[in-house]
Amino acid sequence: MRRPFIAGNWKMNLDRASAVALAEGLAKQAEAVDDVDLAVCPPSVYLDAVGKAVAGSKVALGAQNMYHEAEGAFTGEISAAMLNDLGCRYVILGHSERRHVLGETDADINKKVHVALAGGLTPIVCVGELLEEREAGKTLEVIRTQFDGSLAGLSGDQVARLVIAYEPVWAIGTGKVATPEQAEEVHLDLRKIIADRYNEEVAQAVRIQYGGSVKPDNAAELLQQPNIDGALVGGASLKVDSFMGIVAGLGG
Ligand code: PEP
Repeated sequence: MRRPFIAGNWKMNLDRASAVALAEGLAKQAEAVDDVDLAVCPPSVYLDAVGKAVAGSKVALGAQNMYHEAEGAFTGEISAAMLNDLGCRYVILGHSERRHVLGETDADINKKVHVALAGGLTPIVCVGELLEEREAGKTLEVIRTQFDGSLAGLSGDQVARLVIAYEPVWAIGTGKVATPEQAEEVHLDLRKIIADRYNEEVAQAVRIQYGGSVKPDNAAELLQQPNIDGALVGGASLKVDSFMGIVAGLGG
């Protein structure tokens, strides 16, 4: 059985006081939550403060990005060791905003995935198609290309340890959520790719989150799909009630 996993991607939002208040609120509410993994991914400058606010709680800490080099002259970048030092368990890699706004390629993401895993972090690797790609009937082709490029050279054991987030780009921050059927189709296809490239055991072990305008009122239907193991949540992760409302969707 795959353990459900709901993570909040706070993106470039909040200030230190509101980030800490949100983290404290979530840590408190999470006391009543069982059988679900929870994480928050604040802006990197607030990782330390948020990490302290969730320490000892059921809410884990994640980063939104990292660099693939261990150290050195890479101005503005952050290493896997630094994230470990701050208590991060997860790191989001290849988010569509990094792919499409900041120009990250599958090859860039692949280097980061290898280094994150080697550093003991669990990558949340994002894949997802643009609206024009979906409309052209290319969704599964795009996802397969991103999967093969971003996850090249990993062993089955490594793939089984990571988290994949299927995030259709047209659904991120737009209020347009994929239907449960659209999301389930891609999640099922991802499992088929993994079974093809590795084996069925690995395919059944990998947790695949859905992301894209998940809210308390649409979460339950998505999360009840057999191949959707949780959610990566942007906008609705910025308030305790809406994030916990999504977590409640797992209860049916
Ligand atoms: C995201 O940032 O990964 C995301 C899915 O955003 P939103 O929930 O706001 O669409």
